[in-house]
Amino acid sequence: MPQHILIGRRRVIVSKILCVARNYADHAKEMGSPVPTQPIFFLKPTTALLPNGGTILLPPQSRKVEVETELGVILGSGGSDVPGDEAMALVAGYAVFFDITARDLQAKAREDGSPWTAAKGFDTFAPMSEPVPSAGISDPHALAIRLRVNGTVRQDSNTGRMIFRIPQLIEAASQIMTIEAGDVIATGTPAGVCPIVPGDRLEADIARVGTLRCTVAARNR
Ligand code: MG
Repeated sequence: MPQHILIGRRRVIVSKILCVARNYADHAKEMGSPVPTQPIFFLKPTTALLPNGGTILLPPQSRKVEVETELGVILGSGGSDVPGDEAMALVAGYAVFFDITARDLQAKAREDGSPWTAAKGFDTFAPMSEPVPSAGISDPHALAIRLRVNGTVRQDSNTGRMIFRIPQLIEAASQIMTIEAGDVIATGTPAGVCPIVPGDRLEADIARVGTLRCTVAARNR
């Protein structure tokens, strides 16, 4: 089923969700992983999208699901081999995005050298707030980003700490695959990722971008 989102008055279909791994040094450190020397991408299916206010469903296959708060970049136009200095012109909007991760499945995949598809791809694993048009955000690399779980602050950082900035991400991604209007780029998470359990209330803010709120429940087969 196509996933439509509105950016201002413009309706776009999300074609793909391109996520960036370890794009904040303090998160790479907490994962015990090296800081990458070039952007590392993985994909989430668009069926994982969840509207603001939705309920994240914890799958029975996992015993440890974690939340990562990220700045989502929504493209208004696409291309391939986009030079970094032209990349920002493609950005139509921004949103608050949760990269929900089955951490135990990811750890097992790492061990086995397998893809992260299951760890990252369950239904409801891509909650996203209503996008705001990019015209209202003069510098997306200077935004406070914060997560509260049940009222307690768990992530508190700034998008200025990204290792690879949005133009570099767009340039690198578009050298791999054609990027399109409606694509969402999840730009990575700062430190403080934490497990979530049924009944939790998640609330994430990115300055000037908005607030994303979700609840958590177990998914029954
Ligand atoms: Mg992430």
